Amino acid sequence: MLTFIIPAFNEEGNIDRTAAALDKAMADNNIDYELVFINDGSSDKTWEKISALAENDSRITAVGFSRNFGKESAIFAGLETARGDCAVIYDCDMQFPVETVIEMYRIWEKGGVDIIEGRKKDRGRENLLYKGFSLLFYKLIGKGSGLDMENASDFKLMDRSVIDALNRMPERLTFFRAMSGWVGFNTEKVWFEVAEREIGSSKWRVGQLIRFAINNITSFTSAPLQLVTVFGVVTFLVSLILGVNTLYNKFFGNSEAGFPTVIILQLLTSSIIMFSLGVIGYYISKIYEEIKQRPRYIIKDIVRREDKDNNG
Ligand code: UDP
Ligand code: MG
Repeated sequence: MLTFIIPAFNEEGNIDRTAAALDKAMADNNIDYELVFINDGSSDKTWEKISALAENDSRITAVGFSRNFGKESAIFAGLETARGDCAVIYDCDMQFPVETVIEMYRIWEKGGVDIIEGRKKDRGRENLLYKGFSLLFYKLIGKGSGLDMENASDFKLMDRSVIDALNRMPERLTFFRAMSGWVGFNTEKVWFEVAEREIGSSKWRVGQLIRFAINNITSFTSAPLQLVTVFGVVTFLVSLILGVNTLYNKFFGNSEAGFPTVIILQLLTSSIIMFSLGVIGYYISKIYEEIKQRPRYIIKDIVRREDKDNNG
């Protein structure tokens, strides 16, 4: 059985059509499936929609968070709820083509491949700045963590063994895209075209995206911490040169000219120290977040019909 993990945040207009489209596609292709909708603290009618579906159909589970925990948490709640032999993360806005899911499923079915990951062929209609930043982000995180992350997305189909491995990872600050690479296993890529969102709007805000980027880079690489050391070495070299230069001036002529040097040096060193402290502070704050051992999400409600068992 294939589980669809569907995070939904203010998607009232998308629930029914997504469920219907998936049902049709799976019936046409003879694939046994279940849908796990995660309501990520929506303020619209999303919960009413998915709980109504779950009450009428034993293949549908509705999980409701107590507030908005973010798509990451929703994915992990889905992984824990999933009962399938494999599971795919599927956006509620149907930007991931169903045909690609079937393609992934067929590869999985043949066996031997545990993760089939969807890579974006092009990034849809995103603006240039956004494209530039996401390229930089994936380059940085790829370099730092040694994972190939270019054009990565959450659109992945995973075997049960991968789901179990991910469920055993204890950290609070999750980054699904990188964690699903980190666990290893046999991976194959599938390219897909991002469809246009038809109903509702993208749920990301700029500030959120920047936070997301910094969070995930620091989760997957401590390179910024080493950057601090590099800065230290560079300033040390610069100050050596400047020191020699100052001494030379003192003994062989115009020592008064040193004033600008002092100012520059002071600005340079203090800015680097402050930057470095910032980086270290960032990691400390992450240690703090992890050490609190809070749950990744809080589930308020689950609707699931257990009576009629549909597991094939
Ligand atoms: N989503 C969520 N919680 C959030 C933001 C988004 O569960 O805080 C869900 C959203 O409902 C959708 C998926 O994550 O199913 C992808 O979101 P969106 O389409 O806004 O992102 P984009 O496609 O623009 O990257
Ligand atoms: Mg979308």
